Amino acid sequence: MGGCSACSIQFAKPEEKQEFSRFPTKTGRRSLSRSISQSSTDSYSSAASYTDSSDDETSPREKGQVNSKGNSDFCVKNIKQAEFGRREIDIAEQDMSALMSLRKRAQSEKPLAGAKVVGCTHITAQTAVLVETLVALGAQCRWTACNIYSTQNEVAAALAELGVAVFAWKGESEDDFWWCIDRCVNMEGWQPNMILDDGGDLTHWIYKKYPSVFKKARGIVEESVTGVHRLYQLSKAGKLCVPAMNVNDSVTKQKFDNLYCCRESILDGLKRTTDIMFGGKQVVVCGYGEVGKGCCTALKALGAVVYVTEIDPICALQACMDGFRVMKLNEVIRQVDMVITCTGNKNVVTREQLDNMKNGCIVCNMGHSNTEIDVASLRTPELTWERVRSQVDHIIWPDGKRIVLLAEGRLLNLSCSTVPSFVLSITATTQALALIELYNAPEGRYKQDVYLLPKKMDEYVASLHLLNFDAHLTELTDEQAKYMGLNKNGPFKPNYYRY
Ligand code: NAD
Repeated sequence: MGGCSACSIQFAKPEEKQEFSRFPTKTGRRSLSRSISQSSTDSYSSAASYTDSSDDETSPREKGQVNSKGNSDFCVKNIKQAEFGRREIDIAEQDMSALMSLRKRAQSEKPLAGAKVVGCTHITAQTAVLVETLVALGAQCRWTACNIYSTQNEVAAALAELGVAVFAWKGESEDDFWWCIDRCVNMEGWQPNMILDDGGDLTHWIYKKYPSVFKKARGIVEESVTGVHRLYQLSKAGKLCVPAMNVNDSVTKQKFDNLYCCRESILDGLKRTTDIMFGGKQVVVCGYGEVGKGCCTALKALGAVVYVTEIDPICALQACMDGFRVMKLNEVIRQVDMVITCTGNKNVVTREQLDNMKNGCIVCNMGHSNTEIDVASLRTPELTWERVRSQVDHIIWPDGKRIVLLAEGRLLNLSCSTVPSFVLSITATTQALALIELYNAPEGRYKQDVYLLPKKMDEYVASLHLLNFDAHLTELTDEQAKYMGLNKNGPFKPNYYRY
C-alpha cells in the first residue's frame, strides 16, 4: 500500500476500503430536490441555476447583505437562497462519494491547516463540495467564479452562509468579474498562500496587481487547458514565481472531466436551450481533443451526421478512424445545422463564416474562453440581436437570415446546463490532492516550474471512485509483478503512458 507524501492518506485498492462507500446518505433530503415545475420553468430562465430570479435587477454589488451570523464578507445574488443551495450541495455530495471519503479520512489530520486558498472556478454544487472539503481539511477559502454565467446563485449563497467569502453571481459584467476576483485577493489582514485556478484569470490578476502574494504562496493548482498553457508560457519566460501543478493533464482530470463530462453535458446544454432534435442533423465540431471527442461521440449516438475540423494530423486521423469526416470549416459551413467549438483557440469561427451559415444554424462553444467564436464581430448596426431565452440570442441579418447563438459564445455546458457530479468528483479529488501535495511538500521538492501530480495519486483518485461501481481489480501475482517490473501496489504505468 502506498501513501500520499503530503499527509498520511494511504492509497489502497478499492476492495480494502469498502467502508468509504458507506458515508451517510441523505435520502431523506432527496425528496426536496428539483420539482418538475421548477425544472420546467428553469428551461426558459436559467438552466444552470435552479433559483435564478431574473426579476431582481439590482446588482449584488449594491446590496448590503449579511448571513445569519452577521458576516458580510461575501457578494452573492441573494443570501436568502442559501437553504435551497444547501440542498443542491447535498444532492451533489451523493454522487461525489470519493471526495467525501477523502474529506472523512483526512479531516482529523487537517493537512491544509494554515492554508489560505483563493479559488477561481465555476461555482456549482460540485465545486461547493470541493470547497467544503478544503475547509474540513483546515483551509481558509475565498472564492470567485471563472465564468460570468456559470455560477449557481443558490450554491454561492449556501457557501456564503457557511462563512466562505464568495464573490460571484450568474450574469456578472466583465467589470464585476474582475471586481469579484479583486475582492477575493485584496483583503486586509489575509493573504492567500495557495491558488486554485481554472483558466488562469486569477493567476493573471495576482501577477498584475499583487505580485508580492507570490513571495509567500506555496503554489498554484490550475485546472484548465487554457490556464495550463499560460503557466507553461510563464515558466518558459522565467516568470513563474512558485511551483504550479498542472491538474488538467492529470489522467484523472483530462480523460474523465474533458471527455465524459462533455459527452454527457453537450446534449443537455443544447436541448435545454433549443429543444433541438439531433437525429439526422448535420453538425460540425471544431477540435478533436478530449472535449471534441466527447461531443462527437454523444452527437453520433443520437444519429447526428458529424463533421470534424482539426489542425493536428494525429487528432484528425483519430477522428477519421472513429468514423467522422474531417473537413475544413469553410467546406461545410453553408450546410450544417450546428457549429460547436472545442479548441481552446481563438477566432476559430470568423465573421465571414458566420455570414455564410444557413438560416437557423445553432452556434456554440464548449472551450474554456469566449474567444473561439468571433462574437464581437456580430455586434454591428446591420445585425439585430433578439434575446429569445436566457442564454439564447437570435442574430438576424438584413435579409432575414438568423443564427442561434448560445451563451454569447461562452462555454455551453456550464452556462446552460448542469454537469454530472460524479465526473467532477474525480477532478475535485485530484485538485484537493494537488493542493495537499503542494502545501505540504518539503522545501526543494518543487521548484518554480509546472508539474504533473505523481501518477500514484492519479491511481489513488481512480481507486476511490471505483468503489461506486463495485469493480473488482485484478491483483498482480508476485511472478507477474516481477515479470512486468512493477510494484504490486502501483504505479502501474510509466509517466509517458497515454491511456
Ligand atoms: P485538447 O488540447 O485536447 O483539444 C483541442 C483540440 O483543438 C486539439 O486537438 C487541437 O489540435 C484542436 N485545434 C486547435 N486549434 C484549432 C482550430 N483552429 N481548428 C480546429 N481544431 C483546432 O483540449 P481539450 O481538453 O479538448 O479542451 C478544449 C477546450 O475545452 C479548452 O479550452 C478547455 O479548457 C475546455 N474544457 C471545457 C470543458 C467543459 O466542460 N466545457 C471541460 C474540459 C475542458
